[in-house]
Amino acid sequence: MQRGLAHPSLSHAVRQFVQRQHMLLIDGKWSEALSGKTLDVEDPGTGELLTRVAAGEAADVDRAVHAARVAFDTGPWRRRVSPAARSKLLWKLADLMNDHADELAQLESLDNGKPVVFARAVDVLSSIEMVRYYAGWATKFGGETIDVSVPGEWHAYSTRDPIGVVGQIVPWNYPLGMAIWKIAPALAVGCTIVLKPAEQTPLTALRLGELILEAGFPPGVVNVVTGYGETAGAALAAHPQVDKIAFTGSTEVGKLVVKAALGNMKRVSLELGGKSPVIVFPDADIQKAAPALARAAFFNTGQVCSAGTRLYVHEHIYDELVDQVYAEVSGWQIGYGLDADTKMGPLISARQHARVTGYLEAARNDGATVLGGAPCKAKQGYFVTPAVLKNTRPTMSVVREEIFGPVLCAMSFRDNEIEQLAAVANDTSYGLAASIWTRDLGVAHKLARRIKAGSVGVNAHSVPDPALPFGGFKQSGWGRERGREALELYTDVKSVTINLD
Ligand code: NAD
Repeated sequence: MQRGLAHPSLSHAVRQFVQRQHMLLIDGKWSEALSGKTLDVEDPGTGELLTRVAAGEAADVDRAVHAARVAFDTGPWRRRVSPAARSKLLWKLADLMNDHADELAQLESLDNGKPVVFARAVDVLSSIEMVRYYAGWATKFGGETIDVSVPGEWHAYSTRDPIGVVGQIVPWNYPLGMAIWKIAPALAVGCTIVLKPAEQTPLTALRLGELILEAGFPPGVVNVVTGYGETAGAALAAHPQVDKIAFTGSTEVGKLVVKAALGNMKRVSLELGGKSPVIVFPDADIQKAAPALARAAFFNTGQVCSAGTRLYVHEHIYDELVDQVYAEVSGWQIGYGLDADTKMGPLISARQHARVTGYLEAARNDGATVLGGAPCKAKQGYFVTPAVLKNTRPTMSVVREEIFGPVLCAMSFRDNEIEQLAAVANDTSYGLAASIWTRDLGVAHKLARRIKAGSVGVNAHSVPDPALPFGGFKQSGWGRERGREALELYTDVKSVTINLD
């Protein structure tokens, strides 16, 4: 048996689930890919094959879109399931997720490599909270009456119509969380869904599919098609019967999705990459900042789109703060995700490992000082120790490009001048997140105004509350997920005007 499946902490239910045949969820039923093909799912903590899932292709996407189309256009979902009933279904789903929270956390840890304690306390818990948040919105989101000024007497109002069939494509770094960010608001407003999980991490989406059926959502409302991006993902993005595509992933693939969506001009929302700046002023509370900055850069092995990876510290506190951040992460236990004391797991794949170590090699060759960043040869799986880089220059690839691994570039500044610091923070094609560390609220507010990013934290980095809109400026994306804004992504506005004369 694979080492992951033999782990003593693993529950019987998870072991059984992983070893089961994994099929596609289409129209409320599980079926194999039409081609009969499967794809391998690896355990990133051991590099071993964990299981296989159906490799859906264009023909399977077509079946799933058809089921979602029928469920939206003629099924009971649209006309007979009221907002209150949708709310109850979402609550039921959240309760089921809560009942199976330990199981979902173990599954996520096995599949992604992340520490099970964080999978439970962060990924699963926040996913349940997100479902409950949108369950509340189902009965509260709609149009408004509008006073018009054209001559005569009118009754005018707007409606918020569900956009229709939605294709949702998610990445591997928060497999359950990213699926829920998309599914929950779409269901709250009455859309139907075809979800395409990342090929590296399809397992929690498949378990979620089972819970969705158990909760009582009608057939075809949520369909799950596992498969590769270039086949299943591309087919979904291009499908003429899909009304909207919601994508989270790399900026590079986001651009392909935009092109594919042009055929029927489907709506597109994108949550893409980042290279988020963190600016620390000399009056910052170093004791509080150091552990928070370590988490901002290294949590989830740095595989976080909003990770604070460009650290700019005032020269008066540079050595003290950077040493403390490095001391903090050097103390983290790096290991297998299911081990209870693990604080940092492996990278997701051999490819990601080669990418991260390649960036570190390039930085060394360019003259940067690299603290940490060792490949962990003693362990199987795709491990690398956290790396803090000093003596970097703004032109280096490690400073400019998203690495998506545990690599922090620590730079210093001399002058507190706000415009200049804003220019440094904004010197990137991305604009997802940023944080400012100071006790001076005037400085914090002024800089927050000038930073071009979708989330700006003051003495905190990227706060993950369901009510806070999240998304990117510039090439970090289009639209906002979470909060009321996500409901807008899944609806179209109609104005209705009635001539009363
Ligand atoms: P990726 O772009 O390679 O893949 C993301 C998803 O797109 C996967 O499901 C993949 O199968 C699919 N895909 C791949 N090629 C496709 C194609 N041609 N057409 C349609 N779909 C296709 O990204 P990744 O490596 O899985 O994830 C890492 C990236 O995701 C990073 O850049 C990260 O910043 C970004 N990300 C962003 C957010 C956010 O909210 N902004 C959150 C998490 C991750």
